[in-house]
Amino acid sequence: KTAFDAIRKQWHIIVDGEDIPPPIKFFKDMRFPEPVLKNLKAKGIVQPTPIQVQGLPVILSGRDMIGIAFTGSGKTLVFVLPLIMVALQEELIMPIVPGEGPFGLIICPSRELARQTYEVVEQFLIPMREHGYPELRPLLCIGGVDMRSQLEVVKKGVHIVVATPGRLKDMLAKKKMSLDNCRYLCLDEADRLVDLGFEDDIREVFDHFKAQRQTLLFSATMPTKIQNFARSALVKPVTVNVGRAGA
Ligand code: ADP
Ligand code: MG
Repeated sequence: KTAFDAIRKQWHIIVDGEDIPPPIKFFKDMRFPEPVLKNLKAKGIVQPTPIQVQGLPVILSGRDMIGIAFTGSGKTLVFVLPLIMVALQEELIMPIVPGEGPFGLIICPSRELARQTYEVVEQFLIPMREHGYPELRPLLCIGGVDMRSQLEVVKKGVHIVVATPGRLKDMLAKKKMSLDNCRYLCLDEADRLVDLGFEDDIREVFDHFKAQRQTLLFSATMPTKIQNFARSALVKPVTVNVGRAGA
């Protein structure tokens, strides 16, 4: 058995899949830009949690991933930090121009969760911008808010979208936003997304992707329904399961 297996055992990380990237010890192992590392420190986030230890290297290596970990285990950063890296890299290669739509999309089951996730994204983008990194514009795409203010952001060109399924579907159907450039999709709290009946909406969203995409699915539990959904939506995923949640 390898040293990596020992680290996984120590953190109660169970992995499944082919060619799984090694776990990390520190956030700096992932070579995040300095403002990102500084912002983590400022938030008192020093030691990666188990889902971060294994999830970050898997996602940053470009693999599809199923992340199963209990509430409060730090899943948000596992998909937010790599998304920021993807958006940054893509922006440096071929910048988003006005009207063009995001490099990455996060779908959440509730407005409240989308709002919280959007705030986390913003908290990292602001210090990056201040330190001279290219401007990455996030959009909170949720219902209950005037769509016009959201369309203003789309008009400028948007890099990262955090959405609830309803408003997202609406904007895509009306061709107000396109996923032509989108290559990173995260489904957060997938168990709740499915329980709330959003499965068909999400499948419709899949159809809007043109580029090859990296797909991530996070959940606190993994009932058969979600397993089947994941199987149909992800390609050669790595599963990372931490702690108390069922396999
Ligand atoms: P989950 O989505 O798994 O329920 P969150 O991503 O919402 O959990 O994180 C829960 C809380 O833990 C947040 O306040 C977040 O800032 C904090 N947190 C995340 N990662 C770490 C870490 N490595 N060390 C300390 N706190 C962390
Ligand atoms: Mg969460």
